[in-house]
Amino acid sequence: MVDRLGGICATRALKNAVYLQRVAPHIMPDPEPAEGFGSIIPWDVLALLHSQGDRDMRRLAPDVAGELRKVALPVIANHAVAPLFNGTIHFARLRFTVASQGNAVLSVSDNDTATAIAYATRAVVPISQYAQQYGPNSVTVSPNVIQFDVFLPQASGATYNNATLQSWVNQIAHENSLASSACVAVLNPQGIDNVDGLRSGGNGGYHRRADIAFIFVNVNGQGLTVADRRWEYAGSLSHEIAEMVVDPNADSANPEVCDPCGPNCASTYIDYFDAQGSYIETSQTPPYDSGAPSYGFYINGIVTPEWAKPCPVTVPPSACAYSPGSVVVTFSGVEAAFQANTGNLWIVGTDNRNDMGLGMMAGTSPSIAALPGGGWQAAFQANTGNLWIVGTDNRNDMGLGMMAGTSPSIAALPGGGWQAAFQANTGNLWIIGAGSEGGNTDLGMLLHSSPRIAAVSPSSSPVLSR
Ligand SMILES: [Zn+2]
Repeated sequence: MVDRLGGICATRALKNAVYLQRVAPHIMPDPEPAEGFGSIIPWDVLALLHSQGDRDMRRLAPDVAGELRKVALPVIANHAVAPLFNGTIHFARLRFTVASQGNAVLSVSDNDTATAIAYATRAVVPISQYAQQYGPNSVTVSPNVIQFDVFLPQASGATYNNATLQSWVNQIAHENSLASSACVAVLNPQGIDNVDGLRSGGNGGYHRRADIAFIFVNVNGQGLTVADRRWEYAGSLSHEIAEMVVDPNADSANPEVCDPCGPNCASTYIDYFDAQGSYIETSQTPPYDSGAPSYGFYINGIVTPEWAKPCPVTVPPSACAYSPGSVVVTFSGVEAAFQANTGNLWIVGTDNRNDMGLGMMAGTSPSIAALPGGGWQAAFQANTGNLWIVGTDNRNDMGLGMMAGTSPSIAALPGGGWQAAFQANTGNLWIIGAGSEGGNTDLGMLLHSSPRIAAVSPSSSPVLSR
C-alpha cells in the first residue's frame, strides 16, 4: 500500500559505486564526476549490482557490462561484523547560496530543523532497541543545530554530489570538534539536488562515512511536524538513522537493516508509536491513509537479522512487523566488574550498569561470569562482610559471612546456572550455586587467601584450586 510513497534509500547503490572506484577505477573514476555515479551506471543497476542480473547488464554499454562481469563484489553479511554506532547525531543546517539563481539562499528552515531534531530524539529510542539485535549500540541526538554556509558556483546550478557533501561533513566535524564516534545529519532543502541522491530518481536519502558517519535526507515539504503525516522526511530520516546505527562505517561489512522492510525491497513497513513512545503496531498503511492508527510518530521498519539481505528479497511480514520490546538480544559482548574508588561495585560492558550502588569491603575484588544463555552473574564481599550475588539470577545478600580481606570467585556452568567459591569467616572453603546443594566443604583455607572456581566440560563439577 505504501508504494505511493517515495523515498528509496541509495546507500547500497553508493556502496557499490564506491567499491567500483576502488577495485575498478577504469569503470568508475575517482573522483566521481560532478554529475554523480549514476551518470556512468544507472542507479537502479548500481543498487542491484551484487545480484549481477543479466537483464540489467544488457542496459549497459557492452564494454562496461563486460568489465563489470569481471568484478567480484564483496559478500554481504546479514549480521554485524564491525561495531555498531555509539555516539551522538548532530544536525547540520546547510544554507546554500546558489550563484546561478542570483545568490539566492536556500535551506531547510530553523523551525523545520528543530522539528526534525524533536522527531529524531524520539525515534532513536526504538531504533536503538531494534538495532540491539545486531549488536550493542547507543544513540543520542544533540539538541543544537550546526549552521553551515555553502556556496554552489554558477557551473553547479542548484546541485552538488556526494564527494562535495563529504568535504562539507569533514569541515563541519573539524570546525565543531565533533567526536570520531559522532554522526552528522544533513537535511536537503527543496530546490537543491544531490546528484547522488536525486528526488527525481525516487531517492529519500542515504548514509555514508566521511571522516565521521553522516546521513543525507531529502526533505520534501515545509512546515514539518513530528508526526509527519504527509511523509515528507520522517520515513527517510528514520531509515537512514537505523541503517547508520547498525553500519556506521557504511562499508561492505554490516547489512542495511531497513531496505528489506521497504521502501527498497518491499512496500514500506511502518512502526507506529504513541506520543510517549509506546509501540502501537507495524503496518504497510501510510500515515496519511484513513486506515493508519492514531499515533505520535513512526519509523521505517527494521528487519530481523535472519532476513537482513540485499534486494531483491521478499521477507515474511514477521521479519518486519514486531515490537521493539520483543527483540531478542543474541550478540556476544564482554562484561567487567570492579570496586570503584568510591568503594562501590561497578558493572560495565555490553550491559552497562555503571555504579550498582552497592558498597564493597575495602581491599576485596568482585568476580563475574557470563551465563551461557545470556546475561552475567557477579559475586563480591559487601561492606557488611557478607557474600553478595547479583546479576541475572539476583540473590543480593546471601547471609554468609566471608573471611576479612578475601574475595569470592564465580563460574557459569555450560548447562546453565552458576557456582561460587569463597573463604567463609570460619576459614573454611564454601561452594554454593544455583540449583545445587553445596555449602561448607570442611576444607580449611590459608588465612587471607581467595579461591578460584572454574566450570569444566563435559562434567559440570567445579574444579578448585587454592
Ligand atoms: Zn537503506
